[in-house]
Amino acid sequence: MEQRQYIDNMLAAESGTLHQFGKRDIVMVYPSPYTVGMASLGFQSVYRDLNALPDTCAERAFLPSADIFDQSWKTLLSFESKRPVGDFSVLAFSVAYELELQGLFHTLELSGIPVLREERGEEQPWIVAGGPLTFSNPTPLAPFADIIVMGEAEGLLEPLLEQLFGCEKRSDALRVLAGLPGFYIPSIHGECLPAVAKAPDNLLPATSVICTPHSALRDMFLIEVERGCSRGCTFCVMRRSTNGGMRLVSKEKILSLIPDEVNRVGLVGAAVSDHPKIVEIVSDIVDSGREIGLSSLRSDRLTPAFVQALKKGGYKTLTVASDGASERLRIGMEKKIRARHLLNAAKLAGEEGVPVLKVYMMIGAPGEEDADLDELVALCLEQDKMAGPKTRIAMGLAPFVAKRNTPLDRLPFAGAKTVERRIAYLRKRLEPRVELRATSVRWAWAEYVLAQGGSETGLACYRAWKRGGRFVDYKKELKPFDKSSEFQENLAQKHLAGLFASA
Ligand code: SF4
Repeated sequence: MEQRQYIDNMLAAESGTLHQFGKRDIVMVYPSPYTVGMASLGFQSVYRDLNALPDTCAERAFLPSADIFDQSWKTLLSFESKRPVGDFSVLAFSVAYELELQGLFHTLELSGIPVLREERGEEQPWIVAGGPLTFSNPTPLAPFADIIVMGEAEGLLEPLLEQLFGCEKRSDALRVLAGLPGFYIPSIHGECLPAVAKAPDNLLPATSVICTPHSALRDMFLIEVERGCSRGCTFCVMRRSTNGGMRLVSKEKILSLIPDEVNRVGLVGAAVSDHPKIVEIVSDIVDSGREIGLSSLRSDRLTPAFVQALKKGGYKTLTVASDGASERLRIGMEKKIRARHLLNAAKLAGEEGVPVLKVYMMIGAPGEEDADLDELVALCLEQDKMAGPKTRIAMGLAPFVAKRNTPLDRLPFAGAKTVERRIAYLRKRLEPRVELRATSVRWAWAEYVLAQGGSETGLACYRAWKRGGRFVDYKKELKPFDKSSEFQENLAQKHLAGLFASA
């Protein structure tokens, strides 16, 4: 589709678009398609915060999806003014996870900007990166970004713009930012990461600015009910130690911030259902005639009243996570969920008439054995029985990927063959009674290598993208950086240290 036409179509369907004027011009780039970017509360919230700063104009741009991309996209344009992205003074990328690096390369190339930092001169725009990836390991971004904003960006925006627009020489701006908390300057810090920033409590909660039917969360007003998580799952970058645990927003504040005209409300946070007043909040919203969505549900928090409220708010799929295939693995990874909670979730979904219960599971977790899968099969069949004929059990399977900044850092990837064999085994034992959906094992391996890598791995990813971006290209370039065999010893040591305790 012709690019300008596409942008006009999207803008016509939006409500809340901001059109600011200011000398400090920034384009926020989401390196995934519009539908994904507009469902990101962090992206929307920074868009509002930037536009609220004096003399500042922040616009948006997205990676074109394959179905709309054609020859008319010779130069990527911003949404608000259809200005070429490469003409802005600052490009600010929000990067959610490792494989979005490809989107960053693509959007930079489409904008006519050299992808490698060392090939850019003073006349090129600043390239800034931030987003969820910075909570674990942003070093693969180092060869491409001038500045990386670590963690929660809200309190860092004005200091950042002061330097980017206030310093005459780039080197001066970088030097000043390198001395401030929350800014990772690869050209100065190398691979030594500063700590992630924590936004002041008075800047919470984030709320969405734009509603659109073309978001993955169609026409939904998003509001943060809490930030962080007080639980301690050892594989998760959001665990309590990352950024001070869970910060709550009061029920009164949440309800007061929902605009009258909104019909669908999305409650966002890493541990939404751990909010002590969550049932009251959900009930008040659905009693006002609105639909509801929660970004995270824990099965040990489900009660009949809670599930009834969710059903009344339009829930057709109840989604919870088990992560470990067996009780032994869940205990080992400090996942507080037990088999009884997962069975109770199935029972409640069945009793309240929720059509689907979806359970997320990691395959190939450290210490996982065939016996753990047999326990998982038995649990799923029991869930299916307890849910009854009107509720279907579905399982989302994803390979375990060890992340930096977690206790399971530096553990090996189980291996594509092993994980594929285990998924095939589960399919044989469970389908068609239980529906199984698995993410790509091969791409999970690429994610793993990047998650455990540094700037050299980022460069390898860039070479793979330039070769054509097929998996075979990534395999060739990333293979030398796979540290799985080196990390086998860590696995053995953690076993000995009792990290994977027996139930
Ligand atoms: S996996 Fe979920 S419950 Fe566990 S620490 Fe992460 S966000 Fe919290």
